[in-house]
Amino acid sequence: MKQLFQNLRQRRLLQWLTVFLTVASTSFLSATTASAQAEPIAIRAGRLLDGVGGVMENVTITIEGSRIIRLDDSSGPVDYDLTDLTVMPGWIDTHVHLTAHFNAQGRYNRDPDETPAQTVLYAAENAHRMLMAGFTTVQSLGSVADKDLRDAIERGELPGPRVLTSLRAISVSSGTPDELRSIVRELHADGADVVKMFASASIREGGVKLMSDQQIRAVCHEANELGLRTVVHAYGTESLTAIIEAGCEGIEHGNRYSDEVIALMAEHGTYLDPHLGLLYANYFDNREKYIGLGNYTEEGFALMEEARVIGYETFRRTLANGNVKIVYGTDAVAGAHGMNAEEFIYRVRDGGQDPMAAIVSATSLAAESLGLADQIGSVRPGYLADLVAVTGNPLEDISSVRNVKFVMKDGVVYKNLPR
Ligand SMILES: [Zn+2]
Repeated sequence: MKQLFQNLRQRRLLQWLTVFLTVASTSFLSATTASAQAEPIAIRAGRLLDGVGGVMENVTITIEGSRIIRLDDSSGPVDYDLTDLTVMPGWIDTHVHLTAHFNAQGRYNRDPDETPAQTVLYAAENAHRMLMAGFTTVQSLGSVADKDLRDAIERGELPGPRVLTSLRAISVSSGTPDELRSIVRELHADGADVVKMFASASIREGGVKLMSDQQIRAVCHEANELGLRTVVHAYGTESLTAIIEAGCEGIEHGNRYSDEVIALMAEHGTYLDPHLGLLYANYFDNREKYIGLGNYTEEGFALMEEARVIGYETFRRTLANGNVKIVYGTDAVAGAHGMNAEEFIYRVRDGGQDPMAAIVSATSLAAESLGLADQIGSVRPGYLADLVAVTGNPLEDISSVRNVKFVMKDGVVYKNLPR
């Protein structure tokens, strides 16, 4: 009897094993079939700016799944005929604030009655606006709420750009060098993609250096140990010199620094993310929504007007060096999401940057600064299929960046307007 029972158990086990193996092999087969059945998508670009400075005419881009697999001059039927458009790699904004929004009363301050769910929904709206404006990757500097939104977009259903986030920010009051090192370790453990640090005061408070060289070094060294980049809010020669010499990866804002700092940035390969136009225009256009809150005082606004003028002068001197890695960021806060491409126009029209250099700064160079140089920012086989297409030729008229007609991210079309 016992023997029979054991045999029965063995037979049952064998049956289950057979069922399991059959199911497993069937799912494996169907998964293989599904991916083999996923039809490649063909797109014809009238003009293609490849993100690394190249221009091609009448190119067919073939995409399989989320990746570009081929570029050629074949003239067969395509899924998306963009022969009347200029196609580029999806744009990258290296400095936004995803959760920043005006409250239900149209003001910038936090509404005490706002729920965390409402905050995240505002952020999702901002993300959607930026994707529709052609930005397929953004770095948010940042809020803890960015993380859930980043992960939700990554799941592939919620439309938005790929998100990298700092979660929180480190400032002079965050602690001693030892305490700062432990904060960096916490950020790493919590899933931050980058460390954001405020080495200088807000420009509305004069932008003076606040952090000690020891604090700056502690943060950037600890982050480097963990494989994290550090980007630093900073103004002026003293702050920038300390940041560059500490080996921090990027400078946010910049503004009002010496020619020696420019040479130092070029020598160390430090990324500079200047904010020339959109940031100030957005504050000035939405003055009534900001004024009276914190450092958004009359004096603060006057200091921003001064910084805007000095910013262009600093930018032109930096451009003249020719070797500084200037990446594309807007510091998009409430009111600016979806307007991110305006910065191209300020850069080229008012800052004197070459249009191709401005586009490269928002594509392959921005990708390099995020550590994603082998994934995004270029239109070439093997890269993720992130594309934006505009009417006209931005190399001849930079304002054509406002006319986004087509957006693809990870091989999925999110925008394809009739023309
Ligand atoms: Zn910012």
